[in-house]
Amino acid sequence: MIDLDRRSLVLAAGGALAATAVGAPVWAATPPRKLGYAIVGLGGYGLGIIIPQFKNCQHSKLVALVSGDAAKAKRVASEHGVPESGIYDYKSYDKLKDNPEVDVIYICLPVFMHKEYTVRGAAAGKHILCEKPMALSAAECEEMIAACKKAGKKLMIGYRSHFEPYNLEAIRRARAGEIGKLRYFRSEHGFTAGGTSSWRLKKALSGGGSLMDIGIYALQAARYMTGEEPIAVYAKETTDRSDPRFREVEDMIEFQLEFPSGVIGSCMSMYSANQNHILLMGDKGRIELEPGTAYSGHRMWVGSGRNNEITPPPGPGKTQWAGQLDHMSTCVIDNREPIVPGEEGLRDMRIIEAIYKSAREQKRIVL
Ligand code: NAD
Repeated sequence: MIDLDRRSLVLAAGGALAATAVGAPVWAATPPRKLGYAIVGLGGYGLGIIIPQFKNCQHSKLVALVSGDAAKAKRVASEHGVPESGIYDYKSYDKLKDNPEVDVIYICLPVFMHKEYTVRGAAAGKHILCEKPMALSAAECEEMIAACKKAGKKLMIGYRSHFEPYNLEAIRRARAGEIGKLRYFRSEHGFTAGGTSSWRLKKALSGGGSLMDIGIYALQAARYMTGEEPIAVYAKETTDRSDPRFREVEDMIEFQLEFPSGVIGSCMSMYSANQNHILLMGDKGRIELEPGTAYSGHRMWVGSGRNNEITPPPGPGKTQWAGQLDHMSTCVIDNREPIVPGEEGLRDMRIIEAIYKSAREQKRIVL
């Protein structure tokens, strides 16, 4: 498990480094073929963030949409050059099978729909890129991995920070020993959740609260920054249950991760405050990112405080999302495993389940 993780990180960091060295992405050798994507779910992320990114891609193009809102799908299709024959709804989704233009299905749906649309998508003979968190449970993640394996299709999780230059540079510097021996990792991730009707605040639809949605970035960062797998967790939840937003899901959950080298990871996830911060402390210095995993505006300091601000070399794509999309495409074209495959989402879900268990039982859980 750890070996695979390390390999993933080296590949991701290597991608960024190669991009810097030769001025072009590491997969520039791949012929400029563009794979076709079907975006499933035209919500805040699918429509607002992902669809506009295809213009930044070398190997990925938008060819189909899946939406429950026919009028919206028609409008988006005409704005983005998708033919009417590329519009599907949730019932006709399986007909993607007959559309040779679609190579990859990108699932941008609420979490409770991830498993179903992955399994059906793989059965339709398409590769799957699925948003985080991968599913409601580790058991669902296992089903998704098995379905894609059975269909001989790739499965990647939308962990965009693996393609983001500040994160890649922080990993590179930590691995190069710039801050000495890593002793402590800290990360707080949160945003102020609003609107009690959101699927995010309904446990059956989201699988949980802030940890599933935003705290997962702190967990991911703890793993890719240290390059280690946690061996035990201890967690404490603090939620004001009289707040109508938090009748079903948690607000704050702090979790401590113990790593084999002795590094301690201290993470906080919140739905009641905006925070996005990553800090690595070594015996010779620190690396700090704030924001660390945002859409934009990243900043990074390396040294003893905030005197030495670093601007990293470009990442593997024009943007973190173009890097992510083109990584998926080149993995399909070259028949390689994505650096963030389904197994990576499964690892996070297993740890998340242990964090919830620890908070519930108020005890340290060995992984
Ligand atoms: P959203 O609520 O804005 O959009 C969800 C979409 O799913 C909508 O188009 C909605 O109509 C559709 N949908 C279909 N059936 C539904 C149902 N029964 N209930 C609710 N919606 C239904 O959500 P979003 O913010 O776009 O999130 C979608 C996925 O993307 C989630 O997995 C989320 O975690 C992920 N996400 C990832 C990032 C990131 O940075 N990687 C950022 C935001 C969201």
